[in-house]
Amino acid sequence: MYTDEKINEDTYYIIDKTNDFIYVLKGKEKTLVIDLGETREPLYETIQAIAQGDMIVYLTHGHGDHVAKTLEFDKIYLSPLDKTVYQENELFYPDTFQLKDYQDLYPLDDRQTIDLGDRIITAVSVGGHSPGSMIFVDPKYKLLFVGDALATMKGVWMQASHSLPLSQYAVHLQQLLVYFEENGIDDTWEMWSGHEKSGGHILPHKTNISYIQQSIELCHLLLDGKITGTPSDEPTFDGTQA
Ligand SMILES: [Zn+2]
Repeated sequence: MYTDEKINEDTYYIIDKTNDFIYVLKGKEKTLVIDLGETREPLYETIQAIAQGDMIVYLTHGHGDHVAKTLEFDKIYLSPLDKTVYQENELFYPDTFQLKDYQDLYPLDDRQTIDLGDRIITAVSVGGHSPGSMIFVDPKYKLLFVGDALATMKGVWMQASHSLPLSQYAVHLQQLLVYFEENGIDDTWEMWSGHEKSGGHILPHKTNISYIQQSIELCHLLLDGKITGTPSDEPTFDGTQA
C-alpha cells in the first residue's frame, strides 16, 4: 500500500517504491492526478480515498517511471510529442510495463487548462528532457509541478536518446522564463519535481529561477564548445555513451 503526505489541505504526494512522485490536486469539483509512477502496485484506491469528484490524470511526460498505472485510470492526458517515448516503454520492457494503448489517451497541449472548481491548473510545455515534457502551474497555492523537465536539486537528464538538442531546450527554457515573468511566478513559489527524495530525505522544493537562467547559460557554453563534458554512465536508452 502507498501512503500519502500533505503539501496543503488540497494537495498530496504519494511516493512509490522507486522514488517516483505522484501528486493529487483537489478542487471543489474535480481531482487532478499528476503522474502515475513506475511500480505495478495498484494505485487507484489510494487516490480514490483522497479524491473529490471526477478524476483526471495529467502526465508530465511519457517515461516509464511516470506512467506505469495507466490501465487503472480513464481520463489520461499526455503531450502528443511524447507518443513514441510512451510507446517505447512497453516495446522495450514488455515484462515491466503493461500500459493503456496510446490511442486511448487524450492529447495535452501547451497552455491547456483544467478547472477543478476554484482551482485552475495550466500545462506549459518545456520540451528537452523529452520532446513533450510539460510542467503544471497552480496559481491558487503557488505550486509548480515540473516532472523531470527542469534542473532542481538533482540536475536534469538530457542524455536520453529521445531528448531534444540543447539548442532547443535553451529556447524552451527562455520561453518559460517569459511565461514566469508574465504570470508573476517567482522564487516564492514551491516547485515539486518527479523525484524529490534523495538519501531518505525530501529535497528542498523551493523554486529557484536562477537555476533556469544557469541552465540556459550552460546549454550555450556547451554548444559554443567553451566547456566540454566527460563520459557518463547515466543511461541513454539506446546503448550509446552519454
Ligand atoms: Zn523522465
